[in-house]
Amino acid sequence: MRINPHYLTLPKNYLFSTVAAKTREFQIKYPEKSIIKLSIGDVSRPLPKVVVAALRKASTEMGQVKSFRGYGPEIGYPWLRQAIANFYTNLGVHLADDEIIISDGAKSDSSNLLDIFDRDATVAMCDPVYPVYLDTNLMLGRQPQFLHATAENNFLPLPDDSIKADIIYLCNPANPTGVCYNREQLQQWVDFARRQNAVILYDAAYACFIDDNSLPVSIYEIKGAQECAIEICSLSKMAGFTGLRCGYTIVPKKLRTKEGVSLNYLWQRRQATKFNGVSYVVQRAAEAVFTQEGLSCIQANIAYYRRNLRLIGATLQKLGWQFFGGVHAPYLWVRCPQNMTSWQCFDYLLQECGIVCTPGVGFGQNGENYIRLTGFNSYTQTRAACRRLLRLQKC
Ligand code: PLP
Repeated sequence: MRINPHYLTLPKNYLFSTVAAKTREFQIKYPEKSIIKLSIGDVSRPLPKVVVAALRKASTEMGQVKSFRGYGPEIGYPWLRQAIANFYTNLGVHLADDEIIISDGAKSDSSNLLDIFDRDATVAMCDPVYPVYLDTNLMLGRQPQFLHATAENNFLPLPDDSIKADIIYLCNPANPTGVCYNREQLQQWVDFARRQNAVILYDAAYACFIDDNSLPVSIYEIKGAQECAIEICSLSKMAGFTGLRCGYTIVPKKLRTKEGVSLNYLWQRRQATKFNGVSYVVQRAAEAVFTQEGLSCIQANIAYYRRNLRLIGATLQKLGWQFFGGVHAPYLWVRCPQNMTSWQCFDYLLQECGIVCTPGVGFGQNGENYIRLTGFNSYTQTRAACRRLLRLQKC
């Protein structure tokens, strides 16, 4: 047998396992101390009632001869694609329903999309970055070019002529830094991609957190984006679907290679061959998210996480710790105090406060000296964590 040798070159996935192991060790050593996780990358609010009702109704339908459904269309049921297209119309973005392709989430889509590009395609992505973009390219033997995201550029790198890439990943708002490009900055990326004949893989998994009407929610609000960008979307953070699994990817029909090949055709072809679609029940639940009631329920959950983020932000300000993000994304990107490394700061917060964070260096070299905190815990736990942090002032 011959394996894909690139798998052996992958860095060990030590970030979250080391965080978990260190937390476990601490718990065993100090069983009386309570631990609060400000490292949670998963939602904690339950599904909106309207979504649960849709799940129940669809499950009942599946148990009756008349309404039972087997295989559905690989790209998703038309009623869900149309509901999403209507959502975009309200943003001023006009999409045909078959430009929206339903999937089981943004993680799968961001990696599966690589199937439709040349093996030798060159890739650019931020450092620090959502590790999936990096690992899926390393698996193909590609060494990406890194776009350096640092405090000097507010963790929002912009295009320049040193970037030579066929595929450019943009995560906006960004994981792990929590920052968000504005309209002018995204326009620069779109113009650059079009000049270079590159494609932007635009991960909008956190778009629901954007809290400013002047910021674009979709890259297609930017002129020319339909000619160069694929938008990857997820209901995970938007509507609490991390366990239910549903997302969608938009591949506009205007997006074509120089030779005129449609990427929408390629992606549909890929999905029809390798994927049998998201379950009927889950698609009905997703449809409920895009109703008026669904959209207002998810706003309540997002407001809940935002309150946590504001509290953590205010606490960091009192401590005088510099941070980025936390407004248009569920992540705060915090400069470690006293020039600590990411792991020193992790140990310090665990020892002194029983707080678990995510060391920034786990997301790339430029993440060294930073930690990531999230607003996903409960308000009670977040408030308790903030009280503990404030006690550090008195030390
Ligand atoms: N994209 C980014 C940037 C993420 O941070 C995550 C999850 O944390 C995902 C995608 C995964 O989304 P999904 O649950 O839809 O697979």
